[in-house]
Amino acid sequence: MKNDEVMNIAKKRGFLWSSFELYSGVAGFFDYGPLGAILKNNIMNKWREYYVIREGFFEIESPTIMPEEALKASGHVDNFTDPMTECKDCMEVFRADHIIKEAIGSDVEGLENEELSKVLSDENICCPQCGGYLTHVWSYNLMFQTVIGAKGKKTGYLRPETAQGIFIPFKRLLRFYRGKLPFGVVQMGKAYRNEISPRQGVIRLREFTQAEAEIFVNPLDKSHPKFCEVAYDILHLYSAERQSNGEHMVKMSAGDALESGTISSEMLTYQLCLAGRFLNDLGIPGNVVRFRQHLSSEMAHYAIDCWDVEIETDKYGWVEIIGIADRSDYDLKSHSQYSKEDLKVFIEYSQSKVVKKLVVKPLMSKFGPLFKADATKILEALKDIDASQIANTFKDKGKYELEVEGSTYQLSSDLLELQEVDETLRGVKIYPHVIEPSYGIDRIFYAVLLHCYCKEDDKVLLRLPADIAPVEVNVFPLLNKDDQSRIALEIRDQLRNDNIVAEYDSSGTIGRRYARSDEIGVPFAVTVDHDTLNDNKVTIRNRDDSKQIRIPISDVYQVIKDLSNLKISFKDLENEILQS
Ligand SMILES: [Zn+2]
Repeated sequence: MKNDEVMNIAKKRGFLWSSFELYSGVAGFFDYGPLGAILKNNIMNKWREYYVIREGFFEIESPTIMPEEALKASGHVDNFTDPMTECKDCMEVFRADHIIKEAIGSDVEGLENEELSKVLSDENICCPQCGGYLTHVWSYNLMFQTVIGAKGKKTGYLRPETAQGIFIPFKRLLRFYRGKLPFGVVQMGKAYRNEISPRQGVIRLREFTQAEAEIFVNPLDKSHPKFCEVAYDILHLYSAERQSNGEHMVKMSAGDALESGTISSEMLTYQLCLAGRFLNDLGIPGNVVRFRQHLSSEMAHYAIDCWDVEIETDKYGWVEIIGIADRSDYDLKSHSQYSKEDLKVFIEYSQSKVVKKLVVKPLMSKFGPLFKADATKILEALKDIDASQIANTFKDKGKYELEVEGSTYQLSSDLLELQEVDETLRGVKIYPHVIEPSYGIDRIFYAVLLHCYCKEDDKVLLRLPADIAPVEVNVFPLLNKDDQSRIALEIRDQLRNDNIVAEYDSSGTIGRRYARSDEIGVPFAVTVDHDTLNDNKVTIRNRDDSKQIRIPISDVYQVIKDLSNLKISFKDLENEILQS
């Protein structure tokens, strides 16, 4: 299986391995090794290029520990759960929907606990470990709980997602963007989910890295100014409708997907295209990527439209690696309600509007004598009451009863005059809607290894794009001789001074060194040979086709830099040399 070959190399060559191996390991935790840590950073920096630089969404960094109030407001304390069941014999715990899927093959995501319990008993599903009886299904909260402070009186949680760290300081971010929609803010960092029994390697981690963008838009305007640039991108779409009808996915241009209403808005469609381009830049080809729309049963009740970006794997089937959702105004509204802070945005009309408005005018000459000392607080309380409500009550009852600080006052219609006046409105206050692309960096990392890996005859190649490969160039002496080694080391050091990740290797035959280099995806190798001593030239070897060209040492630095930044391709270089 390709997965096993890739994970084997990942472990052996220093990309990725299970954490805490010395203490027999803990499921759901992985270490990034020397090459893995650089590769992961390169993937994250590529993501920054897309979202921070090109889209202009600034990045923030908020704490990974959050107080309970914030996660109560976001809904995580009450709803961030998985259905759990326990074996009465061996006491092992399982995710109910997962073992049902394993046992009978049906997808039961979104079913209530009662329904899941019924499926377990109706289908006679037993403990996959010992065959014992399984308990009723209950909701298990996935957050890691902790306490904040020495007295431990304040409950905290490790954050289950990075997004909340963007919603909470929304007012400051809005001010930073001068109060204008749309704007986007991103955050990259660790998030935590205490998965019940993760058994899918790097696919289901308890500590993982997210990259999320929260794009705040006017609910009435979900357009994207650069949509024309992506309108012809081809997407493999698997709409909810096609899934329900048991049909296959279809290839469609972004423009057609929008026009046909398959995807709900221009902004959302644009985000799907961006995700497709990003994966392509990481060496994950379009034919192993699909965009699957959430069925109404899996979609959160507040969401307007959700798409998972999935990649094909030989071991786990289609795996979600990115989620792109239109979350409506849910997040800002609930934080507003819980915190009592106004998180609305003022949207200015292009032209101010004049509207008729009913206002209440208390007749002061009667008010004072009638209510004496209470008059002031009654007048103050009246300001908060909608005039049309008073007008309606007058119509029904002929008077209005006003409660102020526990006392009730009878206001007859001769005390209050209702007047219609013209009011000029410059705009309206609304909760912005949020479009959220949410990337699982670890799963993307896995997808990159899986889909850049290839085997040609007995040769193993990791075809990582040159701009994300952890080692950019290897420098070898052809033979392990002092004079060749000395020049090779000088070249390596000069490359390092030029900010290029360069490694030196002189052990074993040159063939073995090339093979090792290909296996970890080093795109280029510079080789110093016997002739170098006379002509000051070296060969550059291209990983993907083993072709070589010979250039002066003085050109090596610029050439490697240009190749690494994808400014030129190896093919360009070959043509250039042929012509000169
Ligand atoms: Zn059991």
